[in-house]
Amino acid sequence: MEAIIKLENVNFYYDKGKPTEVHALKDVNLEIKAGEYISFFGPSGCGKSTLLYIIAGVERPDSGKVIVNGQDLMKFSSRELAIYRQIGIGIIFQNFNLIPSIKNFDNVTLPMAFLGISPKKREQRASEIMARLGVAELMDRYPFELSGGQQQRVSIARSLANNPPVILADEPIGNLDSVNANNVLDILKEFNQRDGKSIIMVTHEAWSLKDVNKIFYMRDGAITKIEEKGEKMAVKKVGAGYYHKNLFPELPVIEARAKVMASLILRGYSQEEIKRLEYFLSHYLRNQIDKETFRMVLDRPYKEGGVGLWKQRAKKIADYMENIIKEEKELEVLYKKLERDPETPLYEEVEKIQRWLLGDFTMKITPLQARRLNEIVMERIRNIILPEHFQKILNLPKDEGGVGLKIRTSLKITEKLETLLGREGGIEAITKTANA
Ligand code: ADP
Ligand code: MG
Repeated sequence: MEAIIKLENVNFYYDKGKPTEVHALKDVNLEIKAGEYISFFGPSGCGKSTLLYIIAGVERPDSGKVIVNGQDLMKFSSRELAIYRQIGIGIIFQNFNLIPSIKNFDNVTLPMAFLGISPKKREQRASEIMARLGVAELMDRYPFELSGGQQQRVSIARSLANNPPVILADEPIGNLDSVNANNVLDILKEFNQRDGKSIIMVTHEAWSLKDVNKIFYMRDGAITKIEEKGEKMAVKKVGAGYYHKNLFPELPVIEARAKVMASLILRGYSQEEIKRLEYFLSHYLRNQIDKETFRMVLDRPYKEGGVGLWKQRAKKIADYMENIIKEEKELEVLYKKLERDPETPLYEEVEKIQRWLLGDFTMKITPLQARRLNEIVMERIRNIILPEHFQKILNLPKDEGGVGLKIRTSLKITEKLETLLGREGGIEAITKTANA
């Protein structure tokens, strides 16, 4: 399908030639097709809003092309540009941008008035769209009389007044609490899926990407990665089935799991010892032996049929397995809740997982670090971010939005979480040993 918006090698500077010059967009190339719901995603200051303004025709690139429906936006006459802005796109802002001195109804009809649509038609269309967004009864009030969530719905109504095929949303949920934020995301999803609107949403919050089809990751003015999402990415369980399907399709799940865990736990030990552990582990995972027996056979000399580990090591592994089985059960419960309601907050559950994750480490973390860790644990559980993103954010400095942990610690924590989630988590060692 033909792209409705296409950018070719777009560069943009603020204060070009001055000491304060900022190279805000660097060689940006992208294509957006009709009906797509895409996002520009990245940390604050990476150029998301600038990119949106370029697409909106508010800013002109210093070099490169912006092509709208096959035509060069730079070559539009001022009249064509005005029409594009009035009926080609609708914009939603983080701070709603409603005109405070006029009523909500007039805020919604204004874009139609600019187009010269008759008052009667304006009224009819504004009523319709406001009713659909659940703000019809707020028509005669002023923006300041409304909650943030209500203001955002009025502003969405305004952006849709002229029925544009494309909606541009700049951090539309940035000023909303989670209930209203979810409500706005549902509205965007509906206008995308039911009305076929193309949507470009700018965000720095990974969880808000749950409904988008395609993510343009941005950093320092450049697009660093493009990720396409399948039909449904709301709650994709990562769960233990992964081993089964991906690593050992021929084995039953528990067998596959025991194989992977054994080589992970006894990394560096001989194949014989790993095989033994695998054998007892599968019994323990099946509940055929209890923890004490499991500990004993780990400790028993190899010649006598055990794994032949030191006492301390045997105890550590038994404790570790006991914990992970417990966490897995909790994770099961958590996924059940998520399946029922993908937006369940799950603070307590995530808190527990976080405590377990940090259990082996002595370092103290600040409340800010704890909050970020909680956020990304949740995002990882919802499978919104990949193991490598999780690890990167753990390691990223605090002032760049990361958790600020040392690289070794962040690798270990990622590995621990992935063990629980049942994925190899990019640890080649597992696949290597497993295939040996
Ligand atoms: P984002 O929306 O991702 O937070 P922006 O597009 O707003 O990022 O900003 C990209 C870069 O351009 C940042 O370094 C920002 O400081 C700079 N910038 C944004 N607006 C202006 C402006 N009006 N004048 C100068 N620099 C700006
Ligand atoms: Mg911005």
